[in-house]
Amino acid sequence: MRILLIEDEDRLRTTLAKALREEGYAVDVAEDGVEGLHKAGQNDYNVVLLDVMLPGRDGWTVLRELRKTKATPVLMLTALDAASDRVRGLDGGADDYLGKPFDLDELLARVRALIRRAAGTARPDIELGDVRVDTRARSVTRAGVPVVLTAREYSILEYLALHRREVVTRTELFEHLFDENDDSLSNLLDVHVFNIRKKLGHDLIVTRRGLGYCIER
Ligand code: CA
Repeated sequence: MRILLIEDEDRLRTTLAKALREEGYAVDVAEDGVEGLHKAGQNDYNVVLLDVMLPGRDGWTVLRELRKTKATPVLMLTALDAASDRVRGLDGGADDYLGKPFDLDELLARVRALIRRAAGTARPDIELGDVRVDTRARSVTRAGVPVVLTAREYSILEYLALHRREVVTRTELFEHLFDENDDSLSNLLDVHVFNIRKKLGHDLIVTRRGLGYCIER
């Protein structure tokens, strides 16, 4: 899953980007509203984390402009924790709202919920035959036995699971799982899929030659 973080405070942006990457997300960052709006329009992010008080164009403007073309889930971050601002954000097309300072675990939980909702599943567990993906704990079991995946392997599996019975192209996987500075991993996708199959069964992820990958279960 690929996230765009639009935040002008250096420390918060750096800390948050690091925490999100540790969770296995691909993270692009923008330091002001102009850059943020540009990136949000150029790429298909799974979630945009949008600060309200930004130089250039503020979060309200970015949200309004983005909503003219895209339905990307937006979580607004703001120091203005007044009810009127929450209402303004939600009325403006934001999907969720978090007042600063916020708890990192709560932010991560809200991001996971937005990703699930966008995929059309409100339940945190996805069952793929004997394989169960717990998107809340970001853990996987096979026939009830925990299986350890790397963050990257988990991200690939989760994306395919959220799009089960659809063919997911390699390009789509790159766009959603690797960030803009991450060009070294393209040839490793096959390796990651190979490793997931080794851990979870060779028939879990089906290769559609020339098209991409699919979980048919
Ligand atoms: Ca700010």
